[in-house]
Amino acid sequence: MDSNNDNAIRLVVFGRQGAGKGTQATRLAHHYGIPHISTGDMLRAAVKDGTELGLKAKAIMDAGQLVSDEIMLGVIEERLAQPDAAPGWLLDGFPRTAPQAQALLNMVGENGIDVALDLDVPEDVVVDRISSRRVCADCGAIYSVNSEADASDCAKCGGRLVQRDDDTEESIRKRLALYNEQTAPLLELFDGIGLLATVNGVGEPDEITEKLIAIVDERIGS
Ligand code: AMP
Repeated sequence: MDSNNDNAIRLVVFGRQGAGKGTQATRLAHHYGIPHISTGDMLRAAVKDGTELGLKAKAIMDAGQLVSDEIMLGVIEERLAQPDAAPGWLLDGFPRTAPQAQALLNMVGENGIDVALDLDVPEDVVVDRISSRRVCADCGAIYSVNSEADASDCAKCGGRLVQRDDDTEESIRKRLALYNEQTAPLLELFDGIGLLATVNGVGEPDEITEKLIAIVDERIGS
């Protein structure tokens, strides 16, 4: 992949489950006109479509565990080779483990990533957020509801708002533990190669988006 000599924008977004990563990643990708590549969304689409990948991933996802590195590397390699990823991309939910991070860096090179953003939100805050998270079954828009009564239809497409199959308390706990064990160490790795920028993810979503855009603009020199 030719990644070092063009104007492509390549971003990685880290953050524990419920940090607002999906929302901010969607906004950033839209702002920079690059595809938002969420491995979680890709896997959920595969489950919905009943593909071979979906059949393999469903039980693993519902249990809050991680799909194997081998499968995920195949998924991401294929996705980054799509023509719409030529002007750049934003990765959300990948890399999640040390082998995934190493494979990504081997694939694109250290110069092939502009910045890895870490949306930092404490664990007790994210547990509350995840239990009130609802997603549109049709378009995937993300909402926060305070009671079932608030959870009706998607404001964007009218689709039904549902709770993710893996947003049960047991699965949430498992996923947070896995984040601490497997993904948090990657922050040090990206920091060590000068690519990490940490942003406080507690606050008004619009203000956080502005902060993220300011960091990316600085890194890409626009
Ligand atoms: P997410 O929407 O990012 O929270 O991902 C939902 C689920 O998909 C995770 O709990 C994992 O089971 C699986 N998944 C998503 N991305 C990855 C990845 N990079 N490596 C392994 N499993 C993943």
